[in-house]
Amino acid sequence: MSDLPDIVTRWIRPEIQALSAYHVPPARGFIKLDAMENPYHWPEQMVEQWLAQLREIELNRYPDPSPAGLKQGLAEVMCVPEGQEVILGNGSDELIQMIAMAMAQPGRKVLAPEPSFVMYRMIATFTGMDYVGVPLVSKGGAEDFSLDREAMLAAIEQHEPAAIFLAYPNNPTGNLFDRDAVKAIIEASPGLVVVDEAYHAFAGDSFMSELVRYDNLVVMRTVSKMGLAGLRLGLLAGPAPWLTEFDKVRLPYNINVLTQKSTEFILAHREVLDQQTRQICVDREVLMQALVEMEGVTPFPSKANFILFRVAGADAVFASLKEQGVLIKNLSSTGGLLQDCLRVTVGSSEENSQFLTALASAIM
Ligand SMILES: *Cc1c(COP(=O)(O)O)cnc(C)c1O
Repeated sequence: MSDLPDIVTRWIRPEIQALSAYHVPPARGFIKLDAMENPYHWPEQMVEQWLAQLREIELNRYPDPSPAGLKQGLAEVMCVPEGQEVILGNGSDELIQMIAMAMAQPGRKVLAPEPSFVMYRMIATFTGMDYVGVPLVSKGGAEDFSLDREAMLAAIEQHEPAAIFLAYPNNPTGNLFDRDAVKAIIEASPGLVVVDEAYHAFAGDSFMSELVRYDNLVVMRTVSKMGLAGLRLGLLAGPAPWLTEFDKVRLPYNINVLTQKSTEFILAHREVLDQQTRQICVDREVLMQALVEMEGVTPFPSKANFILFRVAGADAVFASLKEQGVLIKNLSSTGGLLQDCLRVTVGSSEENSQFLTALASAIM
């Protein structure tokens, strides 16, 4: 790090030099429960049908720059209200980046509760915006990770953020914020509020229908956590005046032709994904119950496809799990409210059992 050539240190922005790149640990050979992926594949016959459709793709041609049919299909499946606009991103990460790029100016702020999805802070930094994190509620070590409504409202008044990001349910804590608190934030915000519903499939709750009520609200979804993380496709829904501006900073052809074709195919077979989602929700409750009963482990309630839990000596527990071939996410080093916290993705019931056995042995 310290040996950067002078020409690089001279020209790369200091805040970028100060960052470490988003770290994805190698996972080959592990039971992979670190990244909120769906553990299931498709029935063999469905795979064959999909491959037959891919065969028709002309890879020598650019993709449709703004695939209207695909947007319409997704809007219907995701219950986007009539009259609201939709834009697509190369994952919802790209949508966050587009929003920030369209708003960034020196001194402009992005605000989010903490802990939350790390890309809000990172993308604010990439685009030269200031970032304000407002801690979630913690009462003497007994966190419930709810929104600190008064602190959020005070921070909004003080900082006048251009954009507020609320993950609903929140990552990495797994809880849904209080609806009324979210509404109070939307009403108090002088700028845009982005409700990030990456885990919508597991939550049974949404702000999508509220789009018609607020002109400073947009709702973001992704297909990643539903079982299509490899496709890279996110969706932003909201009022046309906002989305028309965001669409201007979108790179042409941001959704590649394989993703477009595959998504069209899956929309027609979405019962398979819905069934997998229902299974994951059932297994989440089984896993939660097992963690509740495990001595020394404190799991937090989850409406997503992962569970955050606290365990004494989290670093050692994480290392032991890894040693036993189970990869989860260690959030303990983040400190603060996440001291001694680990996050496990709900996998197949067999993977969950293997994780539980490894965990029991790790904390002995
Ligand atoms: C995983 C995640 C995303 C990113 O989704 P992609 O569509 O894969 O880029 C966005 N927001 C939250 C809260 C997430 O957890």
